[in-house]
Amino acid sequence: MRKHILIAILFLHYPTFAKESVLIENVTVVSSHLQRPLQKAHVLIADGRIKTVSSSNIKKTVDTQVIDGTTLYLAPGIMDSHVHVSSIPGMGFGVEPVAQKNGALAEDYYKQQPYSFLYYGITQVVDPNPGLEWTKFTSSKVHPDYYRCEVITARSTFPLVEKNDELSKSMFSYIVEQDVAETALNSPEQIVKRIAESGASCIKVYFEDGYGDESQWPLLSDDTLKRIRKSALPHKLPLVAHANALDMYQRAIDAEVDVIAHGLWNWGEFWRETEVSKPMHGVINQLMSKSIGYMPTQRVIAGLGELMLHNSHGIPEFSKVTPKELLEWYKQPSAQWFKEELRAGFDELPDEVIARIFLKDRMGKGNKILQTLTEAGYPLLLGSDFPGSPSFSNQPGLTTFLEMKAMADAGVSLVAILAAATINNARQFNIDEDYGTVEVGKVANLLLLKQNPLTTVDAWSNIHQVILHGEVFDRTDFAADTMANKALQRTSR
Ligand SMILES: [Zn+2]
Repeated sequence: MRKHILIAILFLHYPTFAKESVLIENVTVVSSHLQRPLQKAHVLIADGRIKTVSSSNIKKTVDTQVIDGTTLYLAPGIMDSHVHVSSIPGMGFGVEPVAQKNGALAEDYYKQQPYSFLYYGITQVVDPNPGLEWTKFTSSKVHPDYYRCEVITARSTFPLVEKNDELSKSMFSYIVEQDVAETALNSPEQIVKRIAESGASCIKVYFEDGYGDESQWPLLSDDTLKRIRKSALPHKLPLVAHANALDMYQRAIDAEVDVIAHGLWNWGEFWRETEVSKPMHGVINQLMSKSIGYMPTQRVIAGLGELMLHNSHGIPEFSKVTPKELLEWYKQPSAQWFKEELRAGFDELPDEVIARIFLKDRMGKGNKILQTLTEAGYPLLLGSDFPGSPSFSNQPGLTTFLEMKAMADAGVSLVAILAAATINNARQFNIDEDYGTVEVGKVANLLLLKQNPLTTVDAWSNIHQVILHGEVFDRTDFAADTMANKALQRTSR
């Protein structure tokens, strides 16, 4: 008797007792491989993959879950190729002091985080600095497909040089010793080999000599970079670079990286220089001629600016992606530490002025570069760098959507945004055989949208259902504030 009740409860709360296949009828397919959306299509999903895409009816059995797609649009799931799942908005990485001090809040956050990405239709992520908590993300029973880069750094270079406690330093395990004698274990070649063996999908290197106009930190040496570049090739590991200033961009291009993981927003004098100069066009042309991937990451800048505005922790969308207790914590004085750091960094300028520096000047500069690339028809990559900083203005999932909106605001076309969010990212990270389009054979990570994403960017947030490896979820299943989500969490491993 007891057993029966238990089974009944499981049936009520957990949707895995799904039918063997899913058939979506009369749907409009939106996918970058199509010249125009395919109307009245029938799409069959089985064993987690797309089995058939057809203009004529597909036979169904009793084991087929049928979805009427008459008013819906079927698009590939979104891929954000720059997120940090170990980093908690408002706290920093899990090993850092603020997160350590607020352990229970941090754990709640990590539990909700995978669902928050899915709530916004993000079904694949690349994490270029996974820290130590990424396994919390992948051990959630339901989570976006997860790919990671591993960071190669040296003790004297960013980001290791910026961390000042031992626990934070423990985030980095691939350290080249540029200053002491090389051993068989710490040569760049051996480190790249170890990264490949760890199952990582890419390598991240930092070109950061100081924030803003500062330049106090050394970079990895040319010799080290050359050896990393050379040994990454046979392992097919793309080289992803952190760079956002003009001089750092040049260094990254010279090091023949595959992707630059930040927009070029750090150039010229504040306010005065707003036009793309000749030398800058030179750098952008090099980037394009070497086919280096470009991630605008405008939300990094927006997140810093919005933090300085009064109600930055009050927008209603947060309640869908952020645990309530964490939202309450953001209002506490102790949660304002990063805001205070920013104020100090800007010599106590008024908050509104600091906000304007980010939201108008820096974002304006990022937009200019986006426009230049867009005019040249250069393909972009969707990468939000969520959360981008310890700012609590960026929240999981929502940030990726806002990044897409920022691209639209900068003048990037909806066709280009679709490609950036799907096939371009899949190609750049060598997973386009499985992801990026609605085509037969690909993994069934798909979205059923209520609006056409080629008509409005808001369609990406008007999600009816999320399909993950062929399993159909209602969007509300993932919301931080619904009971359905609580049920999902209870059954998680
Ligand atoms: Zn990042």
